Amino acid sequence: MPTLSGKVAIVTGSSRGIGRAIALELAAQGANIVVNYQAKASAAEEVVARIRERGAQAVAIQADVSRSGEAERLVQGALEAFGTVDILVANAGIARDNLFLRMSEEEWDAVLNTNLKGAFFCAKAVQRVLLKKRAGRIILMGSVVGLAGNVGQANYAAAKAGLIGFGRTLAKELGSRGITVNIVAPGFIQTDMTAALGEEIIAKAKERIALGRLGQPEDVAALVAFLASDAAGYITGQVIGVDGGLSL
Ligand code: NAP
Repeated sequence: MPTLSGKVAIVTGSSRGIGRAIALELAAQGANIVVNYQAKASAAEEVVARIRERGAQAVAIQADVSRSGEAERLVQGALEAFGTVDILVANAGIARDNLFLRMSEEEWDAVLNTNLKGAFFCAKAVQRVLLKKRAGRIILMGSVVGLAGNVGQANYAAAKAGLIGFGRTLAKELGSRGITVNIVAPGFIQTDMTAALGEEIIAKAKERIALGRLGQPEDVAALVAFLASDAAGYITGQVIGVDGGLSL
């Protein structure tokens, strides 16, 4: 019997990459899925079709998580489609890399607004539902960069480090209501985001990864599915790496 039978999960940014793999894995475990995306409707519909082929239910909902009110609309859409929400995976994220010397306010705001404030908006919108149920899972997509920093990513590192403080505080505030909050910290995972880095940077990264290769979106999805399950009910406020040993 799948571990997430009958649960409802919202996965932000699940039209592509890591979010897509999470949506497919949670569906494989029996959950009904809200596939959120910002712009790529056809990619989101393809994920919905894949989930339905496997016998689970899914809907695609467009919402820009960085904008006030859109997360509310996303959660409302989930309630209309499935009647409840049990799991929020705040995964949507972007990078706008630049050396700090050249980093613009626009690059700073874009990354902070999507990666950190987006998680704030989504958690805020979903908490009412979870508090009422006295149960739930909030999983935030952090990064090894939030722990170690990274040249060219002052904005991204600040957002991902912010998610750690945010998530740990939510874990303390919501724990007595049966809600767990954890932060997943991937290393280099093969997606559009890392494809944009170019071959030289990827080759250098591989030298620093103990396992000698990039991770796959499915590697992250397996951890998220575990954290979303009943088996992870006593794990909260943790930052858990999926990085092939990059952070060692
Ligand atoms: P990706 O392939 O670029 O996919 C990004 C996803 O986020 C897409 O589904 C995109 O939707 C969505 N998105 C972007 N901005 C959004 C917004 N404002 N509102 C709603 N959805 C939005 O990225 P990824 O590599 O899978 O990364 C996913 C998460 O993992 C991010 O938080 C990233 O920081 C984190 N992460 C990635 C890596 C890595 O190596 N790839 C490592 C550590 C952490 P559209 O398709 O509509 O554009």
